[in-house]
Amino acid sequence: MKKIYLDHNATTPVHPEVREAMLPFLGELFGNPSSGHWAGREVAPHIEEARMHAAELIGARPEEIVFTAGGTEGDNWAIRNLLSHMQGAHIITSAVEHPAVYSTCHEMEAEGHELTVVGVDRFGRVDPDSVRKAIRDDTALITIMLANNETGTINPISDIAAIARKRGILTHTDAVQAVGKTPLDVKALGVDVLTASGHKFNAPKGAGFQYIREGVELKPLMVGGHQEHGMRSGTENVPGIIGLGKACKIALRDMGEREQVIGSLRDRLEKGLRDTVPESQLNGHPTERIYNTLNLSFRYIEGEALLSMLELEGIAVSTGSACLSGSTEPSRVLKAMDMDPLYSRGAIRFSLGFGTTEDEIEHCLRVIPPHAHRFQKMSPFFEG
Ligand code: PLP
Repeated sequence: MKKIYLDHNATTPVHPEVREAMLPFLGELFGNPSSGHWAGREVAPHIEEARMHAAELIGARPEEIVFTAGGTEGDNWAIRNLLSHMQGAHIITSAVEHPAVYSTCHEMEAEGHELTVVGVDRFGRVDPDSVRKAIRDDTALITIMLANNETGTINPISDIAAIARKRGILTHTDAVQAVGKTPLDVKALGVDVLTASGHKFNAPKGAGFQYIREGVELKPLMVGGHQEHGMRSGTENVPGIIGLGKACKIALRDMGEREQVIGSLRDRLEKGLRDTVPESQLNGHPTERIYNTLNLSFRYIEGEALLSMLELEGIAVSTGSACLSGSTEPSRVLKAMDMDPLYSRGAIRFSLGFGTTEDEIEHCLRVIPPHAHRFQKMSPFFEG
């Protein structure tokens, strides 16, 4: 069976050059970077080199980068610890955040902070004006994602951060689906804290980084051995950090070409499916969208049913919906976009990435439409 992986927003394969760069750190370069002897001294400079690559990727300074275990850790850290010195502060977030942000915000609310969840438009975009309107005198933090994991829709973060700055409010952005895929400059974005995760752009799992703008007071995530300028104690995940640094370097080098190649494959898939499957609909913004992501709904189809069929065909894709006690609930993100449930239940997310080929896309275009059409015909409502 041909195996086709179109779920790069879930995770990505490790780039061969990344694996190559990591290997010595799983062998002879085993030292603890904090050790003063030769074994530590052989390793420590490589950590700093990785930090430099991470900083370059987003236009930050190396001192503003702290290595973490990834997106969930970074999101939790930012939201919890930016407010740790406050009681009952007001937080603004959006209805389409990843659970790493959404659940943390709700926990903060349960612990005595106040929360406003702003809605999105039908493309899944947060309107800066709705954020402006939600601001109160006691608003302390705005946390809105840069690119959505389900739809790829990109939010106007620099506009939101500008509004926040004027009111002296901190801004955090979950940039997990954007970093390494699209050019970013944190200074232009104007955010105070940004979260990134390596496994979304061909680094190993369990390695990510946090950008903390110079001057922003974020309480350390963990205390102990003073690693990471005292911000995240604990012996470093050296192979992971080395791999992450290499992935950042590759991303910066290959980003332009990838955007072109992957973007045109995504567009080909989008057009091919929409032209052949009746009553299909794009979920997400037509243009303000990460170039690798395609979220399509096929009316009258249960996304989960089509997903299982594609699984048998060796095609790995995803739906954003959660299976709750046997029934499929449309995803919270699509619900927030106020979508007709007959569409939102039939949503499938295709996310392309490094390694996706034209052959694979053409294969999908041969295999998917007949299955989709067959499922549609089973519906008593379908008239096509
Ligand atoms: N934020 C977004 C937007 C994501 O897509 C993900 C992962 O799917 C995360 C956060 C969590 O990242 P990690 O898997 O590195 O914990």
